[in-house]
Amino acid sequence: MIEEIEEVEKDAQEVEHVKCLIIGSGPAGYTAAIYAARADLKPVLYTGIIIGGQLTTTNDVENYPGYPEGITGPLMMEDFRKQAERFGAQIRFGHVSKVDFTGPVHKVEVDGVTVITADTVIIATGASAKWLGLESEQKYNGFGVSACAVCDGFFFRGQEVAIVGAGDTAAEEATYLAKLCKKVHMFVRRDEFRASKVMQHRVLNTPNIEIYYNTETKEILGDGLNVTGVKVINNQTLQESTIDVTGFFVAIGHTPNTELFVDWVDMESTGYLITKDNSTQTNIEGVFACGDVQDHVFRQAVTAAGTGCMAALEAERYLAAKEHVIA
Ligand code: NDP
Repeated sequence: MIEEIEEVEKDAQEVEHVKCLIIGSGPAGYTAAIYAARADLKPVLYTGIIIGGQLTTTNDVENYPGYPEGITGPLMMEDFRKQAERFGAQIRFGHVSKVDFTGPVHKVEVDGVTVITADTVIIATGASAKWLGLESEQKYNGFGVSACAVCDGFFFRGQEVAIVGAGDTAAEEATYLAKLCKKVHMFVRRDEFRASKVMQHRVLNTPNIEIYYNTETKEILGDGLNVTGVKVINNQTLQESTIDVTGFFVAIGHTPNTELFVDWVDMESTGYLITKDNSTQTNIEGVFACGDVQDHVFRQAVTAAGTGCMAALEAERYLAAKEHVIA
């Protein structure tokens, strides 16, 4: 009996407790780690399966301040990680499999086995771009295929590109591309847009955007290295055609990585976590959300990093206020 109790007590002692646990290793998570480490919160960051997040699928990042020559997404994420580690953040490979935000101390399960308790949790699990699911789309991802016009449009200056999608994102990205590119071919799968009227209006009034209604992408064509064109089909007439383009942009929406938090954190119907105005605070005390998991509008590395900084500062203030009450 005594042995059993001792065993239970030993197990209880073995549960690691941290002041600040960060979930996710994109620009938001790493920036939160840098700030939390410098505030002596001794943060532990779990990377998730894709270490470095969405940026690891981006070849060149040219719009992140501080890199005048540009940098590849994976290298930039390496820099972020090294900077966080320099200040003592522990970066661990692992996938958070469950959370329990019932009590003032938050429980997080990693890889289905390890349980960690944390005073504060920073959610930076990001969002994933939706893809069409074509093999050629994967093959040329980063070599002409992109899910972010703001990130990659610049590489196609003066060239002809295609974009698929008909929501606000597609409309916004098509008009963005139209400023840089010679021509934008826009494929809309139905006979109408989903985008708001004002965004539609902008697209329809941009002379170098050609809209193809009832049109679906069959294949992205390439020379083995880069995109050279796209084969599309009109789903009414079944007529196929090939259009020469060097860039192919997919803008059919994003899915925020929030499944884990469904039972705990308030979210919009689209799954994005809800934070208080001008804050990263969620509805749960001590739980903060930053980066694309709570931002469906800007979705940039630099804005994610900005909110990562906010989350760490808010976690620090939350802990300081708590300690003050206890003292
Ligand atoms: P949406 O879900 O609104 O739109 C996705 C679009 O992609 C739809 O037109 C859909 O077509 C199309 N689509 C989906 N799957 C496919 C496919 N396999 N092949 C071809 N087309 C496909 O996503 P958005 O990212 O555009 O917007 C998400 C949210 O963010 C919205 O609420 C939007 O209003 C908001 N937003 C606001 C902005 C702003 O205010 N400035 C900017 C960007 C987004 P279909 O219509 O046929 O279903």
